[in-house]
Amino acid sequence: MRIILAGPRGFCAGVNMAIEALELAVGAYGTPLYVYHEIVHNKWVVEGVVFVNDLTDVPEGEHLLYSAHGVPPEIRQQAAARRLKTIDVTCPLVTKVHLEAIRLAQQGYTILLIGHAGHDEVVGTMGEAPQAIRLVQKTTDVDALEVPDPSKVAYLTQTTLSVDDAAGIIERLRRRFPQIIGPARNDICYATQNRQEAVRQLAAEADVVLVVGSRNSSNSQRLAELARASGVATHLIDGPGDIDMAWFSAEETVLFTAGASAPEALVQRCVSLLQDRFGASVEMRVVREENLRFALPKL
Ligand code: SF4
Repeated sequence: MRIILAGPRGFCAGVNMAIEALELAVGAYGTPLYVYHEIVHNKWVVEGVVFVNDLTDVPEGEHLLYSAHGVPPEIRQQAAARRLKTIDVTCPLVTKVHLEAIRLAQQGYTILLIGHAGHDEVVGTMGEAPQAIRLVQKTTDVDALEVPDPSKVAYLTQTTLSVDDAAGIIERLRRRFPQIIGPARNDICYATQNRQEAVRQLAAEADVVLVVGSRNSSNSQRLAELARASGVATHLIDGPGDIDMAWFSAEETVLFTAGASAPEALVQRCVSLLQDRFGASVEMRVVREENLRFALPKL
């Protein structure tokens, strides 16, 4: 068996920043330290760190960290009402979309946000201008859109979409609203684009693709869809426990990638499993280099 490790894969600059900030915050403020929503995929446990989905689970006055996906203003207001001391590790690439939504709404645009309903990032962005934003999830949604002024329409996108799907929706929007404005191409972040490009280039060499990531991770799901679309058997796995040896035979090539919130340690444990079983050789293939780092928030 031959294993190809797609590069880049796994943690992005936003997730790295969030983890570093969390570790610094634990050092500075001690525990318990509360985190709103998941920061890293797959039961990433730090002693004394409590992940919550509801701010009423955080005692008044405690420290609360917002994860990289960002939060709507409503959550900030709830945190203020509970006198929580907040640490904001929203990814700057998500913040950029929030600020753009606020600016466009102030200028009177109807904003068509291309994204997935219920995703944390979409909830956060929509919360910035709920009256002005309409969610567009697929091309057929475009035809059903009703806007007050078709000449005053803008689009934004979630950062973790499929590049190809977003391009199709944007094209349809441009046809329906010729005066629409938006970013040069989309707001899909460098990490999402690079991970997709690596899979696009390498999947053709593989018999099986394994995507390490969670089912609720948008960019992991998109990686799995992309690999499947190239006709290769693809499995989205939480970790080594999900691997079924019946998926493989010893002569095959297996491509590994991982979503932006999936720790590399999980990938390595999956690789070891296949090495032990099939004596697999491992080859690293970097399609795009990444050196981006984000500054840590002030504590
Ligand atoms: S996936 Fe992209 S937008 Fe999301 S945290 Fe990572 S770098 Fe930021």
